[in-house]
Amino acid sequence: MTSHIQIHLFNKTLKMHVVRKHKRVKGAKPSDQEALDTPSNEETTHLEKRLMDNPQSSSSKSFQNFFATLKFLLRDKIVFKLFSNKKVSNVNCYSDYNDGLIYKQKEFFNENLNRIELLLFQDAFENCNPLASSKKKHKLLGVYMMIGNIPKEFRSNIHNIQLVLLCKDTYIKLFGFEKIMAPLICDLRKLEENGIDFLLDGSNQNYRGTLFSMLGDNLGSLQIGGYTENFSSSKFMSRYCLFKRENLIYFNVDIGEKRTRQNYEACLNNLSNPPDFGMGIKKDSCLNELGYFHVCEGLPPCISHDLFEGIIPYDLMEVCKYMCIQDVISIDYINMSLSSLRKKFKLKLSFPHVNLNMKKTPGKADEILHFLVIFPFIFFNKSSINKDPVWKFLTVMIEMCRLINSSELDENQISLLSHCITVYMEYRRECFPLSKLWPKHHYICHI
Ligand SMILES: [Zn+2]
Repeated sequence: MTSHIQIHLFNKTLKMHVVRKHKRVKGAKPSDQEALDTPSNEETTHLEKRLMDNPQSSSSKSFQNFFATLKFLLRDKIVFKLFSNKKVSNVNCYSDYNDGLIYKQKEFFNENLNRIELLLFQDAFENCNPLASSKKKHKLLGVYMMIGNIPKEFRSNIHNIQLVLLCKDTYIKLFGFEKIMAPLICDLRKLEENGIDFLLDGSNQNYRGTLFSMLGDNLGSLQIGGYTENFSSSKFMSRYCLFKRENLIYFNVDIGEKRTRQNYEACLNNLSNPPDFGMGIKKDSCLNELGYFHVCEGLPPCISHDLFEGIIPYDLMEVCKYMCIQDVISIDYINMSLSSLRKKFKLKLSFPHVNLNMKKTPGKADEILHFLVIFPFIFFNKSSINKDPVWKFLTVMIEMCRLINSSELDENQISLLSHCITVYMEYRRECFPLSKLWPKHHYICHI
């Protein structure tokens, strides 16, 4: 039922854009079409006025369905059964967020038996052809909610991921994240203070809840966290620590002083003082209005964005280029082998064609992951490369990704992962000294 409501909202929004797009009347001039595609000043001013006057009563209907969605979920007997089985934290073994120190130190999760632990996820997406002139024009930001209390194998199920906020991406710059998020923050505060009432088998239930983490891409996390957004040029580019960008030039992968609530507030007090101007923070985050959440503890790194849509495709392409230049293999051989290995392993994915003029190997996150896993099989009859540093770099990169993707890690494996990341950085510096480190290379040190 809930899904139907959200699909309806989603479709309604998409339809609005499609209607706009198809208002392309025969004979209309490009300037007329531009006027149809772009929100009018009147429309923008009206929305702006509504948000400014009363952020709690947003013009977007998606804001208003937070409690309704949550109620529908909790009233479902199967969801409630999964949800009410209390999870037990592991000792010296990490398989879920409740095994970590941040969770164990939060009073709310220790004191409340009837509690809802929420995970939010934000990401923007194009709903028109991203290669055409409409690129970014109709881009939408979606915020989705997952109940953390249910077992992790059910959390990634699409039916358990609910849309709670939808708005045009351009409105974030126009109004700021605070205005866009205000109704959702208001609902979350009510959930923290008064809880949510719902009927189950004829009896009244009341559960309090709070946000545990806000997941998302780096730009969105920096925006919502109040950090400076240009992580490719700002001096302090990490939302996890006070690492300075200049250290990346020297391939330094040490982690700086960890960001905490205390130094976050000290940075806010220092916003107007040069030379560091808030040390990468430009304003307080709206999420810090919540009683049991702080952005220093609740904006974790994302494996897909940082690894498989981040550094791995670029490093894989460097390896392909090196192997072709060294005449170990050719680019045609790589493409042909990928195609035959895909059939041999019965993979449902398809690998886009690779050519040496590209900066990175093409494909989505899951395609890059599979590319990485089957890539070494291409070299099965090339034993001469065993001592090649680039081959070692490739094997360390695969081992690092294997550990990061593991569903469970113990203390020893975490030490091994830390060692793999260090060795990966060293081999990279040795093999590709002209290829600079990116902020995402630093971010994986926080995984
Ligand atoms: Zn850092």
